[in-house]
Amino acid sequence: MTTDAQGTPGILKRTTSADRGLVEVPALAPHLDFRLIGDRQVLLVSETFNTLLRGQVHCDLLPLLDGRRTRQDIAAALAPAHPAVRVETAIKSLAYRGYLVSGDCAMASERAAYWSSLGASPRWAEQRLGASTVAVAGDDGLLARRLRALGIQVADRRPTLSAVVCVDYLDEHHDAINRGHLESGSPWVLVRPYGVQPLFGPVFRPAQRGPCWACLAYRLRGHQEVHNFLRNLGGSSSAVTPRAAETVELEAVCGLAAIEIARWLVLEDLAPIHERAISLDVVSREMGQHLAMRRPQCLACGDEALYRPDRPAAPVRLRPSPKAVRNSGGHRSIPPEETMSRYRHLVSPVTGVVTWLTRASDAADPWLQVCWADIHPESGIWRNHLSLRDCPVEFPLFDSRQMRFPSRTPRGGLPEPSEAVPRPASGSATRR
Ligand SMILES: [Zn+2]
Repeated sequence: MTTDAQGTPGILKRTTSADRGLVEVPALAPHLDFRLIGDRQVLLVSETFNTLLRGQVHCDLLPLLDGRRTRQDIAAALAPAHPAVRVETAIKSLAYRGYLVSGDCAMASERAAYWSSLGASPRWAEQRLGASTVAVAGDDGLLARRLRALGIQVADRRPTLSAVVCVDYLDEHHDAINRGHLESGSPWVLVRPYGVQPLFGPVFRPAQRGPCWACLAYRLRGHQEVHNFLRNLGGSSSAVTPRAAETVELEAVCGLAAIEIARWLVLEDLAPIHERAISLDVVSREMGQHLAMRRPQCLACGDEALYRPDRPAAPVRLRPSPKAVRNSGGHRSIPPEETMSRYRHLVSPVTGVVTWLTRASDAADPWLQVCWADIHPESGIWRNHLSLRDCPVEFPLFDSRQMRFPSRTPRGGLPEPSEAVPRPASGSATRR
């Protein structure tokens, strides 16, 4: 089995060698259907993808792509109207574009259509799922059962991926698990199916220098000021853990987590949880994706030279920055939209530096661009200038809620009372 890491040029991004070139047992990609519309034209259609093919050879060839005939059978059936070389060229062209795969696959047609819809040939998905083993810890059977239903072996020996089911992403026991995986280089993932805000992912991939659990935990703690205060006050036993649990809801969330794990096993970096945590809001039914980033100064996976307290101070180097934009009473080197686009990934209540960001002024107003923001308290807002070395980030270091530099707050404690400023009605989040 070979991976096409650069991506097959067509609509399928993961294929086996049998799905490419002059496919031996060609079949139309399972999620596609075709309609002959006359005038030597045929429409390829699906729920989300449609395209038009021209030429009589396509009109005559597509009905024969049932995954049961060999290419020799097809060439014989189309002769003498279409020479064998023309048929073979059409087969190669359709395979190149991902419209045709190998029919040599035992997967049921509905499942095959599911995987080809996601960009993997059924043969590729079948092989990857069959070759994968997931070790599951902390599970009462809900997640393991769904993984097995997807054709994934669940076992502790030499797993492709380890999944840890938890009630708290910040459980201190995760630190030892994290360090174990940093040492072994093996990937693992957290799944929290409980409560009204289930969360799973990202896949921590130490061998690829991805973010580790400590990188994520650092950000997550900053968004849970009150919970973190209690945790600091009374230890892990004081942590607020979700109590809400409805069996049917749990089963649904575990099913969703299992399918996302399966997608990662099949699609690798194309799967959402490859580098993102996925959150669900049981109340609103909203789903969010949160890009997790490695912190170079992480105490677990980072560079010691960046977190040693005796490290030399890095000088601030000023450089010219021409004023390209002059509006809102200010001068900018780049438009605010570009700043927003560049740093949008840092806004997240799970993995972000900024918890949320909401436009306060009229979105259609190009002159006055005012936003409300709730900023990660450890991103520098609540720190004095000495601790800014810990945070080589990215956002303006002033509190937009107060429009002043804040005073210092003890690490892990509650911020000092601030001027009461109402938050916007939408997009806000209650501090946990
Ligand atoms: Zn880390």
